[in-house]
Amino acid sequence: MASLGRWVFLRLSHSERAARWASRWGGGLARRFVAGDTLEEAVEETRRLNEQGFAVTLDHLGESVRDAAAAQAAAAEYVQAVRALVEAGLRATVSLKLTQMGLDIDRGLCAENVRRILEAARPAGLLVRIDMESSAYTDVTLELYRSFRAEGFDNVGIVLQAYLRRSIDDLRSLAPLRPNVRIVKGAYDEPPHLAYQGREAIREAYRRLLDEAWSACSRVAIATHDDLLIDYAAEAARRRQVPDDRYEFQMLYGVRPELAQSVLRRGYEVRIYLPYGRDWYAYFMRRLAERPSDAWRFGRLLLSGRAR
Ligand SMILES: Cc1cc2nc3c(=O)[nH]c(=O)nc-3n(C[C@H](O)[C@H](O)[C@H](O)COP(=O)(O)OP(=O)(O)OC[C@H]3O[C@@H](n4cnc5c(N)ncnc54)[C@H](O)[C@@H]3O)c2cc1C
Repeated sequence: MASLGRWVFLRLSHSERAARWASRWGGGLARRFVAGDTLEEAVEETRRLNEQGFAVTLDHLGESVRDAAAAQAAAAEYVQAVRALVEAGLRATVSLKLTQMGLDIDRGLCAENVRRILEAARPAGLLVRIDMESSAYTDVTLELYRSFRAEGFDNVGIVLQAYLRRSIDDLRSLAPLRPNVRIVKGAYDEPPHLAYQGREAIREAYRRLLDEAWSACSRVAIATHDDLLIDYAAEAARRRQVPDDRYEFQMLYGVRPELAQSVLRRGYEVRIYLPYGRDWYAYFMRRLAERPSDAWRFGRLLLSGRAR
């Protein structure tokens, strides 16, 4: 994370004033990263991306849900999304967050909500990817992933964050399950004893994780907008003769679309992570933190007095 972006992120992401302001004024900026408010809009955008050659993973925005009814409603929304994607014959998976499914309320409730989605998705072989949240949730996320696999769900995927020092060991311990893994750098603010700091150290950790992931995983999703890592992965896949159906690139909707186009043109599978829904604030703040110029613009608007 760039230092200015990180500063703005830390100042704003915990500020209720900023959240209030953002919901009034920030929607326009956030729109760049979000398909729309409704499932219908998300399905339409998925269709458009499919027509351009991209696969999609749909994310119904939401996290840190504190209310059981809201967690159940979020799960119901995912079940509907799965059905809509399958009915429309779209090339798409879904991605979700466990804290949206009620993890902070009750682990059993969360597991039950995810199970409903996995069951809805299983007949079509549609993958449900569990996003990885901050390090406070790493253990429980991996435990739940393992328990779904033990229940026989093969349509569940996981995420490992290269910045976490533990991730290489996590990958090794997951290897017997032949997991479907998305590798990301990591989007949360983590302390040095848990996470590598600085762009080069995180890149190096990403390369190490990827080097082992080729043989440890059934499928690897290389999720990054970093040209150096994309080239590194493409070259490794070529050298190791990794079959096309064992890896893909993934990028976030609205982030470096020209890069996504160019990777697609090179003949690779590229999946766009497509969020939709009204609960965009936390997601948007993480995207701002990664882009100092946007963060600066947002911060200036906030400080200029329009934030009332
Ligand atoms: C498909 C996908 C799924 C993800 N899932 C998770 C997850 O489950 N858990 C998690 O912790 N993280 C997740 N992330 C986020 C990830 O951890 C990083 O925070 C994010 O991808 C930025 O890192 P980067 O690898 O693109 O490299 P960076 O070094 O941040 O960026 C590489 C290049 O892309 C540009 N760029 C990056 N962000 C932006 C932006 N917002 N706008 C414009 N340009 C930008 C940079 O300027 C730079 O040129 C996901 C990312 C992707 C692509």
